[in-house]
Amino acid sequence: MVDLKGQYRKIKSELDAAVMGVIEAGAFINGPEVKKLAADLEKYLNVKHVIPCANGTDALQIAMMALNLQPGDEVITPSFTYAATCEVIALLKLTPVFVDTDPDTFNMDLNAVEKAISPKTKAIVPVHLYGQCADMEPLLNLAKQHNLFVIEDTAQALGAEYTFSDGTVKKAGTMGTIGTTSFFPSKNLGCYGDGGAIFTQDDELATVLRQVANHGQTRLYYHDLVGVNSRLDTLQAAILLCKLPHLDSYAAARNQAAEYYDRAFAGHPAIKTPFRASYSNHVFHQYTITLTGVDRDGLGAYLDSKGVPNKVYYPVPQHLQKAYNLKGYKEGDLPVAEALSHRVISLPMHTELTEDQLAYITQCVLEFVNK
Ligand SMILES: *Cc1c(COP(=O)(O)O)cnc(C)c1O
Repeated sequence: MVDLKGQYRKIKSELDAAVMGVIEAGAFINGPEVKKLAADLEKYLNVKHVIPCANGTDALQIAMMALNLQPGDEVITPSFTYAATCEVIALLKLTPVFVDTDPDTFNMDLNAVEKAISPKTKAIVPVHLYGQCADMEPLLNLAKQHNLFVIEDTAQALGAEYTFSDGTVKKAGTMGTIGTTSFFPSKNLGCYGDGGAIFTQDDELATVLRQVANHGQTRLYYHDLVGVNSRLDTLQAAILLCKLPHLDSYAAARNQAAEYYDRAFAGHPAIKTPFRASYSNHVFHQYTITLTGVDRDGLGAYLDSKGVPNKVYYPVPQHLQKAYNLKGYKEGDLPVAEALSHRVISLPMHTELTEDQLAYITQCVLEFVNK
């Protein structure tokens, strides 16, 4: 699904030097590269504070801890997404309230969000799924009206941009109360291990976020809050510093591959290609098609047999997972999320796809679908 080696080869000398530099200097924890990465990301994202941490799941947890959410508080989040978001909600004894999905954008259905708001609701956690922003303007208005926090899970959409109705453009993760991301190797900006970061425009909140991420201390050995230990390694920061200047060209390469797929599948009655929202660009963390009248798992097995990587993100919506179904959801409660979990499949998507590879992949897909 990804080609990390191919991407590495193109910046190998720079990356090798950066890694060796960290080893020579020996500042493996909180070295200068970590601060530099935060500063570079602040500039790139046009956000006041970037707080690096150990991974994208920790970023979500630290965000919810810093907002002082209390057991029993309700947090509205999509069901059709990765488990990390609701995992953290459940871990902190908050109650995940799942809402259904817009079948075009794969993001949260805003009417469903509005209906899900109760007196116990404290936060909304949109996920910018597959690399396209959720429709943030109406969501932020709704949150403001009900005095709710918004935590943007930007693990799949770093670098994506949202355009407001007045023409203002903001980067994903910088619009809500807090934004979070992941630098997992396969993400759009991936390091060579685990990594994550938290974003906010709020000075006071930034102080608390840093404190929570650092054992609850603002001064060594003085713990005013219960915190966690969540740091980005200096080595990973050095790698990310080399890759960040390429992030926009990586997104352009992903878009080129997406356009190839779009053309190959255009007008096919059984294949719905990714919808492009007017308010957001797309950074194509995944290229995900929705099938009609096709045996999705059969297609997956056929592609496997042809050596074409493929994956289903995600086969079981979170409201039907044993661990997270705290409110007694039943099959049928979130029909779009459930239908998508049976009908979507993602194709190889990365920065190194060649025309030959794309031709072979699309040929294999069409062979099975047209059979
Ligand atoms: C990858 C991902 C995460 C978690 O990131 P990790 O760094 O693996 O902890 C959270 N949310 C979404 C939507 C993701 O895709």
